Amino acid sequence: MILSKKELLDIIASEIIVCTKCRLSRNRKNAVPGEGSPDSQIMFIGEGPGRTEDVEARPFVGQAGKFLEALLSEISLVREDTFICNIVRCRPLSNRQPLPDEIHACTPYLDRQIKAIQPKIIVTLGNCSTGYIFSKASLSFRSITQVHGRPYKKNILGMTVTVFPTFHPAAALYSAKYKEQLIEDFQTLKSELLKK
Ligand code: URA
Repeated sequence: MILSKKELLDIIASEIIVCTKCRLSRNRKNAVPGEGSPDSQIMFIGEGPGRTEDVEARPFVGQAGKFLEALLSEISLVREDTFICNIVRCRPLSNRQPLPDEIHACTPYLDRQIKAIQPKIIVTLGNCSTGYIFSKASLSFRSITQVHGRPYKKNILGMTVTVFPTFHPAAALYSAKYKEQLIEDFQTLKSELLKK
């Protein structure tokens, strides 16, 4: 039986919401599987749920999410046209960065979502998701500052995908410089989308 993209994503989400593969599951209110269009050509990958996301069980619905929505609207997209998720699906307490073993436990879900959706573009938001996707693409990675704002056409999980790294939208909330760079990167992303 061949499952549709939506059916595959629903199965993955049903596994994520009951997952206990790492310590992050112990303190969560809700796991956050990710959401959006199964037919989307573009996926956005953040780091991990924050407090609001943990309560609402939806990605990027807090302050950083509002800014992400504004960036999307600048390039004529709404979040429903995209698929938005995170490297880890349960909130790291005090919003600390996810640990390597948590990333290792959780990213098989991400890999399966990428394979189900088959996006043309993967936008990585910040160091954590960029580091993970760059390693999948056999690209070397030191920091988001060095690689942001450029497309990298690569083979990932058996697919040709354009990886587009940029800063995490939360960075714009405390730094005007990162805010400007995000706005600029999204304009480059828009031209990349027009080529697809
Ligand atoms: N930051 C993230 O990385 N992901 C979210 O879902 C919200 C904030």
